[in-house]
Amino acid sequence: MPDVDVLVVGAGPAGAVAAWHAKQAAPGLDVVVLERDRAIGAPVRCAEGVGDAGLREFANPDGADWVSRRITDVIFQAPDDTEVVLANCGLGWILDRTRFDAFLAAQAAAEGATVLVGAEATAMARNGDQRWHVRVKERGRDDVYRARVVIGADGVETMVGRWAGLDTRVPARDMESCAQYVLQGIDFNPDAIYLQFSNAIAPGGYAWIFPKGVGVANVGLGVVALKSDGRNARQYLDDWVTRRFPGGTRTGYTVGGVIVHTTIKKTYADGVLVAGDAAHMINPLSGGGITNAMKAGRLAGKTAAAAICAGDTSERRLAAYHHAWMELLGDDHLKYYRIKQALEGVDDASFNKLARSVNNIAPGKRTIGRVFTHALIRHPQLIPVAARFFV
Ligand SMILES: Cc1cc2nc3c(=O)[nH]c(=O)nc-3n(C[C@H](O)[C@H](O)[C@H](O)COP(=O)(O)OP(=O)(O)OC[C@H]3O[C@@H](n4cnc5c(N)ncnc54)[C@H](O)[C@@H]3O)c2cc1C
Repeated sequence: MPDVDVLVVGAGPAGAVAAWHAKQAAPGLDVVVLERDRAIGAPVRCAEGVGDAGLREFANPDGADWVSRRITDVIFQAPDDTEVVLANCGLGWILDRTRFDAFLAAQAAAEGATVLVGAEATAMARNGDQRWHVRVKERGRDDVYRARVVIGADGVETMVGRWAGLDTRVPARDMESCAQYVLQGIDFNPDAIYLQFSNAIAPGGYAWIFPKGVGVANVGLGVVALKSDGRNARQYLDDWVTRRFPGGTRTGYTVGGVIVHTTIKKTYADGVLVAGDAAHMINPLSGGGITNAMKAGRLAGKTAAAAICAGDTSERRLAAYHHAWMELLGDDHLKYYRIKQALEGVDDASFNKLARSVNNIAPGKRTIGRVFTHALIRHPQLIPVAARFFV
């Protein structure tokens, strides 16, 4: 029975960074990362967009082979296709997640963590020895790992949280089903991401074009099933893509769920921490979760290492992780969630009017702040939300 200090379940951004930082904080600990898929980072279930500042806390994107594209502009599209261009409004990147996730796992390995692919945690239970016994299926064999701390970084379909007795349920209104094609041979600005908001195109979510290169992009959308007219995400996507890019070649397809909720009430238990999508740590307004997962992974790794070194892995001690996360981003997500709810009340006709009036602002003066102020003037119902957000 392998005996380890930290067992990380899942080698996405949360898990890889958790292992990396646990080893960095306490190099003497045995840290093992399990990844159920045969290759880290594949298949890609992501549009792969990240902001510059958050990314740089973990890695330097300049010249990195895990970057697909540098982004400078954001183009908002109204339901009637009116475009609001925000040029040079901040730097972002489109990653190549097959390489990026592997890069993060290699960082963990370089610190001394063991990374296992094709290894799936299938159950876990706590025995009288203050360890979690985790059943792991690898190459047709069943092993049981004994671990002082298990970090559940197992994504939206998390089981670790449930096995530890945490409430990881998602209200149906806060679960977006996403579908995405990689489209080749299409015409768009390759330095911009496009976001289109429309109840007809993507009810409860939005549609996106994230450039992977000139003429090639991740083109997808997310819908909340409760708000759909009976079509699923792929059917909405097919309709949108057929209209927008009739000549585009579909060279990739993916589906996935995005939890646009707030952090689960409790992210820890005796000897357990959950991080990233598994703990609903996605920005509920944007649906972005890569950087959040890395930040949570860093906190989880450091907290686990310190707890083991202090000989106390009780939930009382591990609660520090939850408080640190809420202070870092979790409390902000509560505010973003309220804004998301307020935006749900804006109909397509209002979005169209808003886009046209925002375009009266000179392009050089069009900042996110000015666009937001404009939106408040046109939609006073957003003012109480904005007040709560900024105060
Ligand atoms: C269509 C789509 C588009 C998105 N676009 C963006 C975007 O542009 N920008 C952004 O920031 N975010 C985006 N997201 C969200 C982003 O992908 C996630 O927030 C991010 O990947 C979360 O990282 P994670 O490490 O928590 O989980 P994941 O990346 O999901 O990693 C979890 C890992 O755990 C493994 N695993 C699960 N169960 C087990 C088990 N029992 N044993 C072993 N391994 C297991 C999985 O195979 C997986 O590799 C998108 C999501 C979707 C679905």
